[in-house]
Amino acid sequence: MTTAELMDYAEVITRFDPVLGLEVHVELSTATKMFCGCSNKFGGEPNTHVCPTCLGLPGSLPVVNAVAVESAIRIGLALNCEIAPWCRFARKNYFYPDMPKNFQTSQYDEPIAFNGYLDVTLDDGEVVRVQIERAHMEEDTGKSLHVGGTSGRIHGAEHSLLDYNRAGVPLIEIVTKTIEGTGERAPEVARAYVSTLRDLLQALDVSDVRMDQGSLRCDANVSLMERGAAEFGTRTETKNVNSLRSVERAVRFEMTRQAAILAAGGSILQETRHFEEASGTTRAGRRKETSEDYRYFPEPDLVPIAPSADWVEELRGTLPELPAERRKRVQADWSLTDLELRDLVNAGAIDLVAATADAGAPPAEARSWWMSYLSQQANTRGVDLGALPITPGQVARVIALVADGALTNKLARDVVDGVLAGEGEPDHVVETRGLKVVSDDSALYAAVDEALAANPDVATKIREGKHAAAGAIVGAVMKATQGQADAKRVRELILTRCGA
Ligand SMILES: [Zn+2]
Repeated sequence: MTTAELMDYAEVITRFDPVLGLEVHVELSTATKMFCGCSNKFGGEPNTHVCPTCLGLPGSLPVVNAVAVESAIRIGLALNCEIAPWCRFARKNYFYPDMPKNFQTSQYDEPIAFNGYLDVTLDDGEVVRVQIERAHMEEDTGKSLHVGGTSGRIHGAEHSLLDYNRAGVPLIEIVTKTIEGTGERAPEVARAYVSTLRDLLQALDVSDVRMDQGSLRCDANVSLMERGAAEFGTRTETKNVNSLRSVERAVRFEMTRQAAILAAGGSILQETRHFEEASGTTRAGRRKETSEDYRYFPEPDLVPIAPSADWVEELRGTLPELPAERRKRVQADWSLTDLELRDLVNAGAIDLVAATADAGAPPAEARSWWMSYLSQQANTRGVDLGALPITPGQVARVIALVADGALTNKLARDVVDGVLAGEGEPDHVVETRGLKVVSDDSALYAAVDEALAANPDVATKIREGKHAAAGAIVGAVMKATQGQADAKRVRELILTRCGA
């Protein structure tokens, strides 16, 4: 794709309004698959988590996984959806080698949850309410591995291998209504929506939400309408985008690609597309089928799902504190400004600070450690804060050692460096690196006397009552003790020595 085939982003925005629709598939972390007792563990030797049901062998019958239904209802409730009092599964018919039954058991016109919303906070604090069309249950397909071609595609491959371990893994598909009016922020809204949804699903503990392993994947529908037009344009669907950053890039790329075609008088093909991580572009997939092509019909082998109102309310009672509420509470509990809260959220530090506070540290100190020194260390290493090899408990211990006077702030940073370098627990690092504060007054007096003798003019000033001059002597003593003295105690000793 040459740049001539793309429109400059700023120009896209002046001429077109983007319309988004996002479909997120989440694999549930149940013990077993959706319709059989096979293990739902990720990976494993190919074709070891299989049985006649998930291989679609004749005569095998599916049974619904009750925990998956529970998870679906909890997800629906957390997304402010209505829960269907009665719904069914449907067969979505199509042939593909990774689908041994030649149909996917899904839900069609009777999803278990519908009509909800999710409030999404953008980086600058603006809140966008994304309307949720539906959340329905279905099963995942197996995986194809194309061997011998380039970049793992079927084109040019010598042969293909199939692994059905993933066939029948419980999936929830969450579909938004069309998202309009986001203008130039459309790519950012798409990323923030998936990010917010991921946090929500994580809080619900229904999935491990690993985008890199495919347990959370996003299909991004993008279309453009001319400014002031009344009808939507034709959309494309970029499939299986597997990182937050890629969601943003894919939407942005599609906007610039479609705009260039429309501006040149062309029309957009309704098709699926694939996002190319390396180039940040999308390439054409297959022409998009319509629902008629799938010949949906109610699944005859499964009874309808009819969750009672009591059961739904019981499940509502199991919802944890959701991320949005949690942020509000944290902001109040820790007396944070909107900006401070946003910084914590953007740094992914709320849970870390909370866990450090739970381990006994004052929240303000915990926040300071994670947002300053540890953030710097994370930046230097190019990793997320949560990936640093230090636990909230260890940070809390360092904070406690400072509070006890056993460490100065400088020594505390040395201890943290030791923990990050894999030298063990904070107390062990203190021991092995010899980082204890010099609290022996006689040793400190010796250093104070030496510093006073070396700076007679300063000593005289202090004796004359100019206490501020003591700072220079404190500095000399800290240097002499290699930062292992408590500056406050040193200052007291200097003033005592000078009779001031
Ligand atoms: Zn099975």
